Amino acid sequence: MKKLLFILLILSSSLLHATNISYEVSMNEPHTHYYNVKMSVTDYEKDYFDIQMPVWSPGSYLVREFAKGVEGLTATFNKKMLKTEKINKNTWRIYAEKANNVVINYNVYAFELSVRTSFVDASHAYFNGTSMFMFIDELRNTPHNLTIIPFKDWKKVSTSLPKLKGGKGFQYQAPDYDILVDSPVEIGNQVTFDFTSAGVVHHVAMYGKGNYDIETLKTDMGKVTQACTDVFGVNPNKEYTFIIHNLTHFGGGLEHLSSTTLEVDRWTYSEGSAYKGFLSLVAHEYFHLWNVKRIRPQALGPFDYNNENYTSLLWVMEGFTSYYDELLLYRAGIYDEESIMKKFKGSINNIENQPGNKVQPVAHSSFDAWIKAYRPNENSYNTTISYYSKGSVVANMLDLMIINKTKGKKSLDNVMQHLYNEYYKKQGRGFTPDEMKKTLETVSGLNMDAFFEKYINGTQTFDYKTIFGYAGLTVDIVVDDNVSLGVSTSGNKIKKVYRGTSAYVGGLNVNDEILAIDGYRVHSDISDYILGRPIGEEVSILISRDDIIQTITLPLLAKGSKRFFIFNESGKKNSVHKKWLSQK
Ligand SMILES: [Zn+2]
Repeated sequence: MKKLLFILLILSSSLLHATNISYEVSMNEPHTHYYNVKMSVTDYEKDYFDIQMPVWSPGSYLVREFAKGVEGLTATFNKKMLKTEKINKNTWRIYAEKANNVVINYNVYAFELSVRTSFVDASHAYFNGTSMFMFIDELRNTPHNLTIIPFKDWKKVSTSLPKLKGGKGFQYQAPDYDILVDSPVEIGNQVTFDFTSAGVVHHVAMYGKGNYDIETLKTDMGKVTQACTDVFGVNPNKEYTFIIHNLTHFGGGLEHLSSTTLEVDRWTYSEGSAYKGFLSLVAHEYFHLWNVKRIRPQALGPFDYNNENYTSLLWVMEGFTSYYDELLLYRAGIYDEESIMKKFKGSINNIENQPGNKVQPVAHSSFDAWIKAYRPNENSYNTTISYYSKGSVVANMLDLMIINKTKGKKSLDNVMQHLYNEYYKKQGRGFTPDEMKKTLETVSGLNMDAFFEKYINGTQTFDYKTIFGYAGLTVDIVVDDNVSLGVSTSGNKIKKVYRGTSAYVGGLNVNDEILAIDGYRVHSDISDYILGRPIGEEVSILISRDDIIQTITLPLLAKGSKRFFIFNESGKKNSVHKKWLSQK
């Protein structure tokens, strides 16, 4: 009895003194593009502690230095100023003097409207927690509370964050810091609607005018979210939030555990390929709620918010997702077979005509995303390959190989299910590149040594004829032997020089201005001036380089680009084809 009482006393005192972190976000003058953040740390009682602003936002592999938007940081205890000191680019030391309630106040300048950053202006506010909320490293796994005080004229807050139990107004509680910053927030007078599919209530928040029709969106987004769920047979969310920014330009999307932000052209919603592109973006980001948010490489969680997080598996996370974002539109009945084949062919044509595909293995492309994919320059096309497009072709090849080897019993869907069940559900962890390979081997019964050596860690070309042959399809490759300079231009100015071409061999440079070809002043498309000329003939190019006029003589080489044609000669579908492409 006494013992029990003692335990109860300990329990109640520890409950009373549970460390609490809460943030209050306000934007009283939205036209100035500033948020005010008040971070309260209660019952921590340290001589000093460090608070840090993430340097990157998960899903977008670039160090963005979010601390650069922070200004005017102060810390107080009972309105008494505490000493603060900045100790590195994103860390502030708070000399708390064992105070049991420290309030840290700072402003965040936010005027970058993208899916991965934060923004506020007179029309609305949108933020990602990674550019707003500082963290205390050892307290990352404790609940983090958030109160939002919208600008006085704004009535709505849209986010997937759970509401704080017993809270008033816009009060939320994230179970940990990761979920706090993985839940973007839209504040304003956005149009909102809901739809239910796959047993999940989906909330949609529409910022910005656009030519959308809510009923059509409910139907089509319902089909897409159902098709994604059908791959896994289970949807881990009860609720899911789409924040959609309708703007004058297209900006892509960013995935989160229970939500996504999409940035789209406001006129994208009329029937046609642009609208299908929007639905493909919906499929892409929704598929990520499994693939990368739950099925994830070991390097991507728990996140290190202070540094780059390196993984050689983005070809699975982004590439497989890119394969499925098209395939699922076919399964959902939005694409017909001709459209989906066009997409697959398009991806193959893209990668096989990019010189960088012969230089950078897709595993390296993943690993170096931080310094290459996210920081392209004029030579990127020659030296890199996208883990999105190459990864989607890898997925396509694997899907056909697995279906063929297992005689239609298994497909890439089973690989996704295995990753989800084994590593997320059962082991609760991320997987290594070797475990990815083993999963492919387990599901398919194929030995994947050579595949990884040649196509993942190497740059060999897939045997498209054999692999599409499994599905009874014929592949024809037509090589363009017309001559070409091998540059891309803006006006007459060279923007890119492609590896192995006339311009590359002959020494034309990026930023050279082409004035004349063989004595003729260039006015229009430069290809007009060499059209029909024989391979090997020399051509004299008058250029301006850094305002110095000079002549470069170079041999005309064949364009050499390949076009892939994939067709079904017999018109019949074999069993592999049926398993691969079947509408449900
Ligand atoms: Zn993605």
